[in-house]
Amino acid sequence: MISYGKQYIDQSDIDAVVEILKGDWLTQGPGIKTFEDDLGNYFGANYTCAVANGTAALHLTGIALGWQPGDIVITSPITFLATANSIICSGATPDFVDIDPVTYTIDPNLVEEKIRILRSKGKRVKAVIGVDYAGHPCDWEALRELADRYDLQLVNDNCHALGASYFDDKQYAIKYADVVTQSYHPVKHITTGEGGAVLTSDSMINEKVRRLRTHGMTKTKDQLENNEGPWYYEMNEVGYNYRITDFQCALGSSQLRKLDQFVEKRREIANKYDQSFYNNDILTIPETQDSVVHAYHLYPLHIDFERLNVTKLQLFEEMKLAKVNLQVHYIPVHLQPYYKRNYGFKSGDYPVAEDFYAREVSLPIYPDLSNDDQEKVINNLIHFINN
Ligand SMILES: *Cc1c(COP(=O)(O)O)cnc(C)c1O
Repeated sequence: MISYGKQYIDQSDIDAVVEILKGDWLTQGPGIKTFEDDLGNYFGANYTCAVANGTAALHLTGIALGWQPGDIVITSPITFLATANSIICSGATPDFVDIDPVTYTIDPNLVEEKIRILRSKGKRVKAVIGVDYAGHPCDWEALRELADRYDLQLVNDNCHALGASYFDDKQYAIKYADVVTQSYHPVKHITTGEGGAVLTSDSMINEKVRRLRTHGMTKTKDQLENNEGPWYYEMNEVGYNYRITDFQCALGSSQLRKLDQFVEKRREIANKYDQSFYNNDILTIPETQDSVVHAYHLYPLHIDFERLNVTKLQLFEEMKLAKVNLQVHYIPVHLQPYYKRNYGFKSGDYPVAEDFYAREVSLPIYPDLSNDDQEKVINNLIHFINN
């Protein structure tokens, strides 16, 4: 079965993990700092804190940024549940702004409109989380400008865009956002099994995220009220166990060395899909802005099912017979029963996102997707729309 995404593990990854397994530290050892330093170097962040997963990274970000009940945090409806859920878990209120119909990322003009409406009602807009959907960076220039003008915190949920460039810069994420979060789930660009990180230029945010990663406890001498001896620790806030292990970090460091190759492979695959589908009335290939090098975590193809007079379900079933598992990224978050019930969102609130959902299909894309397998995907899809 060909799936929409999967990891690529080679012998050097296996060797790196085995070496840790034979050593003294399975967790809380030096491998964590090594991975954090490697990430910091690649992404240009002063501070990097590796955590248990991307959702934990988002959760800790919200707490470290001081989100409180009554604060509104805006994100895109076209994202994984975790982005919006983390706003709730951090104690704030989620709200959404529709996507740009070309880049599929949050529309800065609509963000500004939303901020003005909420402010005129006396509401407090605290932060915006942009999501670099599918690997295409948001319009970060515009978002940064809004954040400065309206005094907002800016977060980049960067899970899809490792290795992407914005104005020729792979280190763009940390230059525009106050905090950047990543995930290393096996479908993402690099993997640690489960894993994630919080990147920031702000030492206070970093220290807080580090404390919260380990129960809110500290042993750092200048942070203690007392110091009763080498065993001594203090806690001033409630934290979690959101740690990552040393063997995961060893895998992460080994994978990070291959990130550029991975992105290159993904871009080759995307290019082949582009060539196969660009000249077609029924299909819309993902567009890339001139300022961007797309990292293609996903290849979101849009299919005009209405005009074809078939359903997405029929396509999924047909492709499954050919052993191709398609996916959809994403069901707009505001349409989830929980969000409708608790926050009053409804169908029609975000028409671009809803139209996107009606058409979007994620085609298989991962570094070792073979030529034959990709051709199978292409041929079956073309056959389906021509019949
Ligand atoms: C994968 C992902 C997450 C969550 O990451 P986990 O490591 O699975 O917890 C959050 N946001 C986006 C956009 C993602 O793609």
